[in-house]
Amino acid sequence: MNRVSVDTAGRPPSVDALARELSLSHSLPHALLVDFARRAIAEKPSEAKKLADKLADDFEQSLLRDVINATGVLLHTNLGRAPVAMQTSNRASNLELNMATGERGSRQATVGKLLALLCGAESAIVVNNNAAAVLLVVAALANSRDVAVSRGESVEIGGNFRIPEVTEQSGARLVDVGTTNRTRLRDYKKAIDKRGNDIALVLKVHPSNYRVSGFVEDTPVRELATLSVPVAVDIGSGLIDNTCPWLESRAPSWLSNEPAARQSINDGAALVMFSGDKLFGGPQCGVIIGRADLVEACAQHPLARALRPGSTTMLAMQSLAMSYLGRTATRDIAFWKMATISTSDLQSRAEKIVTAAKTGEVCALDSIPGAGSAPGATIASIGIVINGDYLTRLRMNETPIIARVKDDKTFLDLRTIQPDDDEIVVQALRQLAE
Ligand SMILES: *Cc1c(COP(=O)(O)O)cnc(C)c1O
Repeated sequence: MNRVSVDTAGRPPSVDALARELSLSHSLPHALLVDFARRAIAEKPSEAKKLADKLADDFEQSLLRDVINATGVLLHTNLGRAPVAMQTSNRASNLELNMATGERGSRQATVGKLLALLCGAESAIVVNNNAAAVLLVVAALANSRDVAVSRGESVEIGGNFRIPEVTEQSGARLVDVGTTNRTRLRDYKKAIDKRGNDIALVLKVHPSNYRVSGFVEDTPVRELATLSVPVAVDIGSGLIDNTCPWLESRAPSWLSNEPAARQSINDGAALVMFSGDKLFGGPQCGVIIGRADLVEACAQHPLARALRPGSTTMLAMQSLAMSYLGRTATRDIAFWKMATISTSDLQSRAEKIVTAAKTGEVCALDSIPGAGSAPGATIASIGIVINGDYLTRLRMNETPIIARVKDDKTFLDLRTIQPDDDEIVVQALRQLAE
């Protein structure tokens, strides 16, 4: 019986009949199915059912859910960067309650204290992302005044985060310093002398995934700190300390060129800004650390209210800071687990998967940090390679598996797959072989 396609009189199906038909195979809200039915009938009355089914299928696939990251990109922007477990409860929290006095408190105070301690700074606040952190710093400290930025650091990072535009939005004027490839301390000095008191801030930006190589020179924070104006440093990725004291082993070599919060503060940065969901391994947010008076100026600025994160983010940042301080990061933080797992562990997992799935071969791969962190660096890894392009089929798996294809071969990198998910990978590979 075909209830909904073109009826015996040759008329297209009714929207309502088609929506009801769709509800048999899609558990989506009725209003949405009506919308798909209407569109399908308008676009292709003769194949309305088929088209409406596809619209509903595509929508179901697009719903946010867990996926398995087999790409080997540890911080994959399309996959939400750092994987992090968010605690949820439907109870109230003491987000803005001062527990000692019972009066209104600050959502920033306790988490800020932990983050400041972690980075060796006086003070810290959390905002919605690092773009917001940079916007707020410039707005709070340089509104209607000038911000000096090296020409080599006046960059665009990822999706439309452009330093000149962010500065403009903050109500500050950008002053270009030096040249694209070389900017020295004396270039900053010249700019400050020329403009007298107009320069409120020197902004140093980590160019992240953009690199100029060869005849290049930038001015280190240590030197910038000798200038007469405060230096704010956007380090981007949120590496807390380049000696990685939370690891049992030494800091991994792939992090050797990455700027870190603690060292930037030690070198004299007045403020440091970074993302929460890159090398910090946390939820989407941005952190501003540094001199107490300057952090306070940011916290008091009207924009701070518009950029403040909610309780789930603050709670996740609190537990991450605790994990770093308690040296349990490699046990608690998913990012550090995948960043530090040994290739021999990966090798034995890959062998087990290949044996159980009776398909694919174990191969050596290079993972990358991703999200503009440690650009150019690779991390030795182990994976599974299968002949043919199975990207779509793996993505359509019940728990979607996001793999990588090169030269008509499908690669699954074990470093970014959480060990608990190995069995899901086995099942998916078995189905490919069938
Ligand atoms: C990633 C990055 C940003 C943007 O951070 P979001 O948290 O995505 O807003 C800004 N600056 C630098 C240097 C970055 O690497």
